[in-house]
Amino acid sequence: MKRLLSVILVCVMLLSLAACGSGNKPGPSQSSTPSASQSAEPTKPANEKKPVIGVAIFDYSNNYVTYIRNSIMSVGGDKADIQMVDAQNDQAKQVEQIDILLSKGVDVLCVNAVDPKAASTIISKAKAADVPIIFFNRSPSKEDMLSYDKCWYVGTTPEDSGRMQAEMAMEAFKNDSKFDKNGDGVLQYVILKGTLGHPDAEARTNAVQETFANAGFKTELLDVQPGDFKTQTAKDVTDVWMGKFGDKIEMILSNNDAMLLGAIEAAKAEGYFSGDASKVMGAIGINALPEILPAIKDGTIIGSILSDAYSEGLNIFTMAYNVATGKDVYEGVEIKPDDMKAIRVPYIPISKDNVNVAEEMYAKALNK
Ligand code: CA
Repeated sequence: MKRLLSVILVCVMLLSLAACGSGNKPGPSQSSTPSASQSAEPTKPANEKKPVIGVAIFDYSNNYVTYIRNSIMSVGGDKADIQMVDAQNDQAKQVEQIDILLSKGVDVLCVNAVDPKAASTIISKAKAADVPIIFFNRSPSKEDMLSYDKCWYVGTTPEDSGRMQAEMAMEAFKNDSKFDKNGDGVLQYVILKGTLGHPDAEARTNAVQETFANAGFKTELLDVQPGDFKTQTAKDVTDVWMGKFGDKIEMILSNNDAMLLGAIEAAKAEGYFSGDASKVMGAIGINALPEILPAIKDGTIIGSILSDAYSEGLNIFTMAYNVATGKDVYEGVEIKPDDMKAIRVPYIPISKDNVNVAEEMYAKALNK
């Protein structure tokens, strides 16, 4: 009998946990802001309702987006009821989640689309419910952005990161003769590209090559392979490169740091990135994730291009809060919108000399 009772008790507990978790799942490293009913501030009149901000994330497992959502939560604090959901990289699921958020009566939606091409579907739903949208991180087309007066975008200019990466590569190659391993004055390099057709992957990859060409910098592109923005895929790609090109590779340029981490792991198995002076290979990433900063600090890699997740989160929350509370959307936003109502946060090149800039940014993004 006791045993039966305890089984029932466990079932009840599990059921209530499941109920808590439905719809509004907090991420692994954070929790959603408590609902307004639980946290009515004593200084405010009871009838003053906090704005309800629905945030649809494409995939909680993405490192960079995790910093953006931490930043949104940290900037938002208890100013709003933030309801955040994870689409787990499934566009159909995200559309359902947006339907649920809209039916709950959110004041504004912040959308990190799984597939930017789904923006028109999302816009038509929000438009029908007269709910404004702040898209972020994955940019809808200009046409979609201009189809709804109550939608805005917060992100970056992806070409800039590719251009800065190429500039960093040229500087390193010119200033340090060790990178020209075969001494021919030409940079032999490979590119780890993100997901084929992904706007950031295309823009970054093209910008790298254009920047080299425009500067008249002599290069030989040994190979470009998609690594899907993922560490493991990039590791597999680099394993093949090690066998195919080996020491011919003078530099690896990666569309993001997650892939570069995989490349470093694969190349390490061949003796590179281990401090062995006879095994030189340059490497530059994009994002300047905390995981890559130690490698920049100790000179294992040349550097990375910081995407400022804190500023992105700050602007997303500020704009969402503004529209939800009837203010001008751009109030308090320091960056000027472009012709598709996009706020583009600048990238910052990070090398050994200014790793602290990235560290300080993450400290701000994680500040609870
Ligand atoms: Ca060379």
